[in-house]
Amino acid sequence: MSRAIVITSGKGGVGKTTLTANIGYALSMDGSKVVLVDTDIGLRNLDVILGLENRIVWNILHVARRECELKSALVKDKRLSSSLYLLPAAQTFRKDDLGVDEMQAIVAALKTAFDFVILDCPAGIEHGFNNAIQPADEAIVVVTPEIASVRDADRVIGLLESAGKTNISLIINRIKPDMVSSGEMLSIDDVIDILAVRLLGAVPEDRNVIVSTNRGEPVFLNSKSPVSKAVSTIAKRIQGIDIPVSMPEKDGFWKRLGSAFKGG
Ligand code: ADP
Ligand code: MG
Repeated sequence: MSRAIVITSGKGGVGKTTLTANIGYALSMDGSKVVLVDTDIGLRNLDVILGLENRIVWNILHVARRECELKSALVKDKRLSSSLYLLPAAQTFRKDDLGVDEMQAIVAALKTAFDFVILDCPAGIEHGFNNAIQPADEAIVVVTPEIASVRDADRVIGLLESAGKTNISLIINRIKPDMVSSGEMLSIDDVIDILAVRLLGAVPEDRNVIVSTNRGEPVFLNSKSPVSKAVSTIAKRIQGIDIPVSMPEKDGFWKRLGSAFKGG
C-alpha cells in the first residue's frame, strides 16, 4: 500500500529538506519506488540537494494548471539504479496558484505509481504548510534540540492533530552530543518529554552534510557519515522494521538503546 508522508517542522532551517532527500535515497535503495515532492513553492531547494536542478523542465504548478502531464514533470535521479523521482516546486508563486484540492489530486495520482510519496514542507504554518499536510497519511516532525524549535514543533503537532493526522513521529536533528552532555543543549529525553510523540530517529550534527549539499549529492551516499547511519535506521523504521533508534554519542559511538526509545 502506498504511503504519503509529510516532513514538517514549523521552524525553518531544522533539516526538513535535507532529511527528505536522504530518507528518499534510503527508502529507494531499500527497494521502494519513491517520489519526493517539493512543496516549498517559491523557495525550492530539494532539487539542489539532489543535484537535479539542471534537469527540471516542468514543475508542480504546471501540473496543477494542467499545462503538462504529471509524468512529464517527474525528474528521475539517474545516479541510482533504484527508483527515485522528484516533483519539483516552482520558483515563483502567488498564494492562489496552488490549493489543497490540487495537491490532494496530485498526491493521489502519485500514490498509484509509487510506494512512498514524501512531501517536503515549507517553513511556517500557513497556506504552504496546509497544502503539504492535508494530502499526507503520516507526518514526520523534525526538531532540533533548541527551545524555539521544540516550541514550534509542539504547535505543529497540535495543528496536525486538529487536521486529523494521527500517525505522527519525530526526528531530532543536529544533535551535538558534547553539548548535550555538558547540559548546554536539550537532550533527546527532554525533547520527547515535551513533545510526547514517537521517536523515529536521532540525527547528529555532521559537517559532511554541508559538503554533500554543496555537491548536490545526499550525504546518505557517504557511508562514513553518522547521518547516513541514522537515516538508514530511520528508513528501516519507516518500513516497519523494528530496530532501535541509533543514538549519537559524544565519543562517536553509536549506542543502541532498546525499549526506552522504541515507542510504537
Ligand atoms: P529546512 O528544510 O528545515 O529549512 P534544510 O534541510 O534546508 O532545513 O537544512 C538547513 C541547513 O542545515 C542546511 O544548511 C543543511 O545543510 C544543514 N543541516 C541539516 N541537517 C544537518 C545535520 N545533521 N548536520 C549538519 N548540518 C545540517
Ligand atoms: Mg526546506
